[in-house]
Amino acid sequence: MIPARQFNQPVLTWFDKHGRKQLPWQQNKTPYRVWVSEIMLQQTQVATVIPYYERFMKRFSTVKTLAKADVDEVLHLWTGLGYYARARNLHKAAKIVADEYKGQFPETVEGLAELPGIGRSTAGAILSIAVNKRAAILDGNVKRVLARFHRVSGWTGQTKTQQVLWEIAEHYTPKQRFGDYTQAMMDLGATICTRSKPVCSLCPVAKKCEANLQSETHLYPEPKPKKQLPVKQTNLVMIVNQHGEVLLNKRPAAGIWGGLWSFPETEVDTAHTKWLTSLENTLQLKLAKPEVWNPLRHTFSHYHLDITPVKLFLRQSTQPLLEPEQWLWYNLDQPATVGLAAPVKKLIQKLAVSL
Ligand code: SF4
Repeated sequence: MIPARQFNQPVLTWFDKHGRKQLPWQQNKTPYRVWVSEIMLQQTQVATVIPYYERFMKRFSTVKTLAKADVDEVLHLWTGLGYYARARNLHKAAKIVADEYKGQFPETVEGLAELPGIGRSTAGAILSIAVNKRAAILDGNVKRVLARFHRVSGWTGQTKTQQVLWEIAEHYTPKQRFGDYTQAMMDLGATICTRSKPVCSLCPVAKKCEANLQSETHLYPEPKPKKQLPVKQTNLVMIVNQHGEVLLNKRPAAGIWGGLWSFPETEVDTAHTKWLTSLENTLQLKLAKPEVWNPLRHTFSHYHLDITPVKLFLRQSTQPLLEPEQWLWYNLDQPATVGLAAPVKKLIQKLAVSL
């Protein structure tokens, strides 16, 4: 490693000229506002996050308002951002901060990292940006910059590689301007040291960057070892009643789309007869002939899900009595504030057009 100043000073000078300073979460920086932005930005681009962040902050302007909210409403405002465990953890952590810490976030990496959904890097970002405390970060962007700068071998998700990267990150964190440095490193990774075509000619540390000097930027960071994802299949059944409302079911908290609302799911049988009878028996209702739509694929981190959407009309005057905690007749014109899984949201839009 080189002396820290030879890395962090050019990065800070670059940030003063070119860094992003107008993002919504860079205004009125509080641990709460920075925390929400950091969680939304995990696996998601800045441009996508901005409107979600603004809506979220408008509704939940403090950690106490978030803690008091119903999880369904939190998931509703998260709909479309994906990785819903982030939203559930956000809500859980807000309750802990409100109830156990009187609404004040802990001001140590260890204290923050005890909250659901906050890892060492997010804790470092909150402390450095909102509290201006010295704390290193190692998010996806920073990993990429540092892995290239020192040609660190191994996939960055591996513990051994992460240990090496954390050592480098700690070493280069400056002795002052912690928040600016954190933001600078995120910006450098997002705008200059990009995944596929880093613009080394504009990079403030290009002269000392090993991958650049060896023309090996394309080799770092090393990709995740590939594995073939298995394919699973399911039917999502869109039952429409005489008022043009569609039946949704709340999914269990654990598992995919946990706590979100979705269409009833049935096993695949190509003739669409067995599941239809079983669904009619379970819900005690009578359904008209199914209309089978073209399948769509939704990919999770560990498998592909091929979904066959099936539209069905409820036969008149057979509206079943269902537990309101678990079932909802979703009005397409006046949608309830509930969280929807991404493919369900897409199908609801298509369904509205077809009715
Ligand atoms: S010189 Fe190129 S590869 Fe190295 S850190 Fe800068 S942008 Fe990334």
